[in-house]
Amino acid sequence: MSRILIVEDEAHLANGLRFNLEAESHTVSVAADGEGALGLLLGKREEFDAVVLDVMLPGKDGFMVAAELREAKNFVPVLMLTARSRPEDVLKGFASGADDYLPKPFELPILMARLQGLLRRRDWMRQQAPSAGPASGSGNSSAAIADDGVFSFAGRSIDFGRLELRVKDTTIHLTEMEAGLLRHLVRNIGKVVSRKSILEEVWNLHEDTDTRAIDNFIVRLRRYIEEDPAKPEFLLTVRGIGYRFAPEAE
Ligand code: CA
Repeated sequence: MSRILIVEDEAHLANGLRFNLEAESHTVSVAADGEGALGLLLGKREEFDAVVLDVMLPGKDGFMVAAELREAKNFVPVLMLTARSRPEDVLKGFASGADDYLPKPFELPILMARLQGLLRRRDWMRQQAPSAGPASGSGNSSAAIADDGVFSFAGRSIDFGRLELRVKDTTIHLTEMEAGLLRHLVRNIGKVVSRKSILEEVWNLHEDTDTRAIDNFIVRLRRYIEEDPAKPEFLLTVRGIGYRFAPEAE
């Protein structure tokens, strides 16, 4: 059972979602606009496990809400509902901090599956979070994620427990989805990872989905870890198939 916030100004849609989520024994709150959503999310009175965030809202739109949340260091998983699946909208959604997106109109079972995926990952990340202080693992370059949930390569380190990526003296906060994708790449280090396997292992989806969302995530991860994102050294494209994470680059 989780606490879900639905941010949607169309009452019939919000009520339909609430009904179905409550039927799955989630606790649901609804906000009808961006300001109301930010009030609930940043007001600290209530803690949510996930947010279903519509893009088209009166006043502050979904992009602005997601961006303000992340700015305020709130990393609650966000599933964004886009009106169209225009690639630039999807990119804008991810750039503003959404973890996943679904174009409207959507099939309810798909929304439930996406949301369940976000909640599962959140549980997993919480279990992996280190309970004690960080152990000082001696930095060998094996593919394993250390007991403290940290993976280091080429002067960068990914802390899966804290959802942080440290590059030089900068700390970048990762969304659940970014961390999930990085974890999948690290576990398959040096191997070709197909878009299909990313869909299944990271998104928990087995149906046909727009794979551009994955490419957009890779663009974002490259901005974090690559010296020159246009000429990646670590996160390489394998034409026609997917990607290869090769931290000991040629
Ligand atoms: Ca709307």
